Amino acid sequence: MKYKKTAIIFGISGQDGAYLSHLLLKKRYKVIGITRNKSNKNLFRLTKLKITKKIKILKGVATDLKFCNRVINSKINEIYYLAGDSSVIKSFETPDISLKSNTEGILNILQILKKKKYKIKLFNAGSGQFYGDNKKNFYNINSKIDPQSPYGVSKAAAYWLVKIYREKYNIFCCTGILFNHESPLRSKEFVTKKIVDTALKIKKNKKIKLSLGNINIFRDWGWAPEYIKAIWLMMQRSKPRDFIIGSGQTHSLKDFVSEVFKYLGISKKNLKVNVKKYKRKTDLRGYKANIRDTKKVLKWRPNVKFRSIIYKMINNELF
Ligand code: NDP
Repeated sequence: MKYKKTAIIFGISGQDGAYLSHLLLKKRYKVIGITRNKSNKNLFRLTKLKITKKIKILKGVATDLKFCNRVINSKINEIYYLAGDSSVIKSFETPDISLKSNTEGILNILQILKKKKYKIKLFNAGSGQFYGDNKKNFYNINSKIDPQSPYGVSKAAAYWLVKIYREKYNIFCCTGILFNHESPLRSKEFVTKKIVDTALKIKKNKKIKLSLGNINIFRDWGWAPEYIKAIWLMMQRSKPRDFIIGSGQTHSLKDFVSEVFKYLGISKKNLKVNVKKYKRKTDLRGYKANIRDTKKVLKWRPNVKFRSIIYKMINNELF
């Protein structure tokens, strides 16, 4: 097959890596995927999308500069940096890992692009988590960055590095400031997937309970495959710039649980809230993306709404 472009995806095994691979393959890219663990178990998302064999999978990590120097060459057109510890909770336990994986990896790639002067476009996965918890909680691209977790700090550092290399060295690099996005491929560590999976178990066995911490928090939830499309659109621009990628809508975790339980006909008696083990000391109360500018400039809009996201996750619809 004659490829149109070649892309490297760091973090190929994750939710976004899997959906992005699928999109790029459809667009006739040659996809090179980087993972620390090439086992079938770790690559289960690619198996679900039936694309494992279509990707050249390499074992490595972006924090290894020698590895990056080996894989990045002038034949590559686009690099997507989606790797790193993506959990806010874990970042409090292992802040060093969060910082290293989310910041040092992208810095290595930026350094290579600067030194070798390759004309490669680079995408960095940022996070709305770095805006923190101000009163208004409705963030646009100019909002103050005020991280409240080591994860937020790592994403802020990466964002600023990307900005500096773009402005000072004229490299095509950009950050997508991503708000929560979900799918059946979401990692089990995340609360939305935990709710859906546990509710499906409760449906079969009424004795099981869903235990959660504070459910009065608000999030801006979107549908992962749509966010991947926005990421790709950012990389097709002639001039690089950062964009906020979110739904522009906010819902509480309580609403999320209610919708799941209602859809599956489960009683609220199966829900335990404010469970100490799951209560976070520093959870953001809520935040929402202001995507007016993204919609206008990228000509992109999120169509899958809150309830559909939930139904699709329950019905396990991959796209
Ligand atoms: P996932 O957690 O599903 O995937 C991240 C991938 O990064 C993993 O598959 C893993 O690959 C790799 N990784 C994990 N820890 C490390 C580490 N310590 N060092 C190097 N690599 C590591 O994340 P998503 O696909 O959901 O998200 C992609 C990116 O977008 C992440 O950077 C995330 O922080 C960011 N983001 C995601 C949001 C969301 O709602 N999904 C919201 C905001 C930002 P392997 O183990 O195979 O090496």
